[in-house]
Amino acid sequence: SARTPKATWDGVGRLADGHRVKLLANVGSAADAVAAASAGAEGIGLFRTEFCYLSAASEPTEAEQRAAYAAVLAPFAGKPVVVRTLDAGSDKPLAFLPMGEEPNPALGVRGLRVAFDRPELLDRQLSAIASAAADTGVELSVMAPMVATAEEAAWFASRARAAGIARAGVMIEIPAAALCAASILAEVDFVSLGTNDLAQYVFAADRQLGAVAALNDPHQPALLRLVGMVASAGAEAGKPVGVCGEAAADPSLAPILTGLSVTSLSMNAVALAGVGAALREVDLETCRAAAADPNGDTGARSGNRAPARVSPLPG
Ligand code: PEP
Ligand code: MG
Repeated sequence: SARTPKATWDGVGRLADGHRVKLLANVGSAADAVAAASAGAEGIGLFRTEFCYLSAASEPTEAEQRAAYAAVLAPFAGKPVVVRTLDAGSDKPLAFLPMGEEPNPALGVRGLRVAFDRPELLDRQLSAIASAAADTGVELSVMAPMVATAEEAAWFASRARAAGIARAGVMIEIPAAALCAASILAEVDFVSLGTNDLAQYVFAADRQLGAVAALNDPHQPALLRLVGMVASAGAEAGKPVGVCGEAAADPSLAPILTGLSVTSLSMNAVALAGVGAALREVDLETCRAAAADPNGDTGARSGNRAPARVSPLPG
């Protein structure tokens, strides 16, 4: 049963024993960023830049991109922000980037894959992001979506550096990337787990399909095992590992993710207070015990759990 956190959120993510977990915001617009700053986010953990262009008929110019990004970043002057390069395709089609006919768009040319044939598109965006960060005084990192291999991560990081950006990371949202997290971490400065897509690909369950939603539940042991593998690889490499999928917004999962060695959680602004308060109630030892037994007595869900149902059953 859900418990009500007693502690309150004061804008610093930490456990009862002082262990730090950065609490960051997911944003896609200037309004989101204003809301996130007033909710006390320590920074931006995921700026979904494609949300700026869902209805754009043609590619925005570099100057237009610079202005659009600066409007979102402005409330976070002096704070860390992670700007994700375009994640177009599949559930987020962009009119100015037609993908062609694909039988399985979720498995097609989406995310960073779009840039392999048109690197100048990525380079223009990276340049606009770097300018917007300088305009606003944020502490910039960039991050690529839908990265599958260490070679792809290295390719992205080298283009980010060529654009003068000091910190480059990638999302871990393809199972292959989770399995090779150590070699990916060798190429980049940080990674962030996109648990929405990672769950979809691990369970072969469409993230947009209600009938298979139980499989996309982030409490699933197979998903948490992959999260733990990636976070351990990050701890080994001494590099940050965040979570920016919906899992990060669940107060009952926050201690488990922390116990698995995740170093930051990024979520919608409305979730910050609940997650922040839940973390204040536990110490690292409790988090580690919950992580070792995520569906057991010390975990998020005590007692017997019914198996996940893949389709609604009567009654
Ligand atoms: C994810 O896949 O978990 C994620 C954070 O990215 P998006 O939801 O934008 O695909
Ligand atoms: Mg994703």
